[in-house]
Amino acid sequence: MHAPPGPPSAAPARPCPGTRRTRLPPGLGRPRSFGSGVASGMTPQPRRRGPGRGVVGVGGALLRGPREWAPQAGEPRGRGPEMGAGRPGPGPAAPLGRAAAGPSLRGRSGRGRAAVRSDHPRGLSGRAQGLTSGLRGAMTKPRKKRGDSRRRGAQPGPDTGPGIPYHLFGEADEITRFRASLLSWYDRAKRDLPWRRRVAGELDPDRRAYSVWVSEIMLQQTQVATVLGYYNRWMQKWPALQDLAGASLEEVNELWAGLGYYSRGRRLQEGARKVVEELGGHIPRTADMLQKLLPGVGRYTAGAIASIAFGQVTGVVDGNVTRVLCRVRAIGADPGSPLVTQHLWSLAQQLVDPARPGDFNQAAMELGAMVCTPRGPLCPECPVRDFCQAQKRVERVRAGASRKLLGSPEQEKTLDVEECAPSKAGLCLLCLPPSEPWHQDLGVANFPRQPARKAPREQQAAVCVLEQPGPEASRFLLVQRPNSGLLAGLWEFPSVPAEGSEPIWRRTLVKALRTWVGSPPPLRSLRRLGEVVHVFSHIRQTYVVYSLTLQEQPQGLPPSGARWVTRAEFQAAAVPTAMKKVLRLFEAQHSGQGKELTFQEACQLGWQVLPGDPQQILTRTLGGMETDVKGLAQGHTTAHIRGRIGTRVLLTPTLALYPPRSFLLQI
Ligand code: SF4
Repeated sequence: MHAPPGPPSAAPARPCPGTRRTRLPPGLGRPRSFGSGVASGMTPQPRRRGPGRGVVGVGGALLRGPREWAPQAGEPRGRGPEMGAGRPGPGPAAPLGRAAAGPSLRGRSGRGRAAVRSDHPRGLSGRAQGLTSGLRGAMTKPRKKRGDSRRRGAQPGPDTGPGIPYHLFGEADEITRFRASLLSWYDRAKRDLPWRRRVAGELDPDRRAYSVWVSEIMLQQTQVATVLGYYNRWMQKWPALQDLAGASLEEVNELWAGLGYYSRGRRLQEGARKVVEELGGHIPRTADMLQKLLPGVGRYTAGAIASIAFGQVTGVVDGNVTRVLCRVRAIGADPGSPLVTQHLWSLAQQLVDPARPGDFNQAAMELGAMVCTPRGPLCPECPVRDFCQAQKRVERVRAGASRKLLGSPEQEKTLDVEECAPSKAGLCLLCLPPSEPWHQDLGVANFPRQPARKAPREQQAAVCVLEQPGPEASRFLLVQRPNSGLLAGLWEFPSVPAEGSEPIWRRTLVKALRTWVGSPPPLRSLRRLGEVVHVFSHIRQTYVVYSLTLQEQPQGLPPSGARWVTRAEFQAAAVPTAMKKVLRLFEAQHSGQGKELTFQEACQLGWQVLPGDPQQILTRTLGGMETDVKGLAQGHTTAHIRGRIGTRVLLTPTLALYPPRSFLLQI
């Protein structure tokens, strides 16, 4: 799935390292901090039946027998620590979920509560104790089946005991050093971004939170470079929450146009109104309340606002943080699974710096965006390289290969101690799955493994650029989409679903146009321009584009939900990006850019004339690559072949120039 084709890595296809017993070098005992429960200061607990046994803080068993793990009914899924992540289990540490929020976390004054407990005999932080005790509980208490006499009364022995908490931070000192390294790098290397500037210079907590809120909503699924212009325009227009609350949805959509995921802007404005009308103008101060009260604010956004604007000591996990944590703690299981999600939130909560929670969270995200990137991470420059299990594994594999060359296999054993080594209780559900073992070529990018993406749903619509020539400038008809669903409330050229055959949807389109302009436009005057493809998050939408120029001025005003706009008004209106593409196609055709080429022009541009059936020629020429000739055959225009940018097909409707079914191909 994720692993590229090629020979398997040095690690053969075997159960993940977690299934093997830790092999220690001669003379080295079990790691001191993670010995038996007694040795580490924990009171051994009687084994309990039930889904949450033995797990503290990490919210569910980390390590279970292959058939034991399944999400349990009622088990929290993906909720924030403040919403009760983690099932309380046996162990002295407070459940992690409690540590993350609650009365102690009141803005900046709550810092002390989350501080590292340096008085623990083993030097573990309070949360680390919870995490490690949970891990130990899961590892040392395998589920005992009824009537299984072989296991009755068995105690964890030296060979079934816990190994190293490979996917956790255990030592308080390690956490402190991790925070210090990351924060000092952030102080040196952070980008100068407008929302950071606003937050740094803002004394009013509500204005500070508003600045963060807007930036976090805009940054969802969107790159920083795209957001910059939108953010600056937004804050210029609505510098305070009260300004946004007084704006109309139309204004919000207009400013948001082109940024995508339009419901974000709508919810932001709904949230602003709620704060002004119901919360006395004050944004909730904790992640818990932010998530509960504000529309469109999920667990991540709530944590980001609370930590950056109010100093709440709460960790956050977004895509960048997920990648960093999965690499740093060698988590190879599906990051979208409830178990991994919960583990990542627990780790984030464990790591967040109580003195600078907002900066720490931003630093972790910045590291993921700038250094620990999906492809080509800059490990030599990474401030947390010393703590990174993925990097250590790369080094181990490299060292192992060198040793093999030198013929000294003995030393290899001493390095296995750094691998995940749970007991015989079962597979480690956080390691790389046995079906997708370590792939040497991927290096640190073995983590995290990406689950296969679901292909977007295919949809097709017929859309018409209806033009009304004017003495000075043409005007185009726009109609408003319904207030719910995809692109709710935005404006677009009249469109209908393109279902059945083309003659059917052409008739449907003409009928729809009649409702907007009063008189039925002649069917044959609809001119097909080509196709525009736009991919929404889950839909691959193909617009079959037509144009029609009205010969007479329509009578009266357009009905409600429709308006005529000039080109300039179109650009300023709340129209989605897909419609801007449609207009570009229309203009290209009208300006001659998209006109069909003469044979000489085509040859000069390197096009070849290939007579014959388009599909057969494409298959022969492109080696069976996925092509989309169906639309092109009727389009009489240029288009990209799906899956191969740079390859274009030009069909030749001008039969006088070329034989029927010829087409031009440029590769
Ligand atoms: Fe990411 Fe490399 Fe840093 Fe590890 S060392 S956190 S893989 S950049």
